[in-house]
Amino acid sequence: MQWKGRRESQNVEDRRGRRMPRGGLAMGGGVSGIGLLVLLAYVLLGGNPGALLQGTGGGGGRFVGGKTPTAQEDELARFASVVLADTEVVWQEQFRSRGKRYQEPTMVFFTDAVESACGSADAAVGPFYCSGDEKIYLDLSFYEDLAKKLGAKGDFAQAYVIAHEVGHHLQHLLGTSGKVHREQQRLSQAQANALSVRLELQADFYAGVFAHHARKFLDPGDIEEALSAANAIGDDTLQRRGRGRVVPDSFTHGTSAQRMAWFRRGFESGKLEDGDTFDDRLFERVGR
Ligand SMILES: [Zn+2]
Repeated sequence: MQWKGRRESQNVEDRRGRRMPRGGLAMGGGVSGIGLLVLLAYVLLGGNPGALLQGTGGGGGRFVGGKTPTAQEDELARFASVVLADTEVVWQEQFRSRGKRYQEPTMVFFTDAVESACGSADAAVGPFYCSGDEKIYLDLSFYEDLAKKLGAKGDFAQAYVIAHEVGHHLQHLLGTSGKVHREQQRLSQAQANALSVRLELQADFYAGVFAHHARKFLDPGDIEEALSAANAIGDDTLQRRGRGRVVPDSFTHGTSAQRMAWFRRGFESGKLEDGDTFDDRLFERVGR
């Protein structure tokens, strides 16, 4: 992606190197991640994803940070800020042309752990969006995991992750996620998971729409980088890597094939309206 020297978003909060008390992130409700929890939990904790999200009830407190960001991390922070600025331009224009107002989200950089309106979170949760404060939380060291552990390399793989989280912000502004979260309250776990998949695939679709409108900044191979990231973080792929088997009822983000298909559809269409993942017929047609 051609990003050097281009405008960086001002909607960035740099909280790298701060300390915070340890709590727990309430998944569900207003929080949406990119779907790395399962894999990273297995990698980092030897097999218990639940351990990441259990709050400790405010006991103790935990010291983090004290680390000065490296030059490489600072470059990543600048890159992420340019991507965020690009999403602002695209979504301002797309909303304006539909008579809607786009309220820009904030991106928070953090190290190891962070406090959000959705609770406190470990970096191991992966990047996430919290609708309670309309912020995207990103630990930049995550990109190393994306490239090294998951094999998704390249700057546009990184841009896709941000665009996906911004996609959740769109769902918040458009009322989609609020409606889905309310509906999930009265459903079984498997049914609630199936709705979560629809929401996540729509965020992938919106990331594709963003790429469509930002295509003048793309280098050859950038779309393939995004697709390789989408492929790497499909539920089936992560579960196969993590526990050696696949449990479709537990999917919350969609398979690798679905994630790639919806991103690609967004990239080809460029229109918000073509991403109704809640339309069963369309879902069947695209999601194979
Ligand atoms: Zn997500």
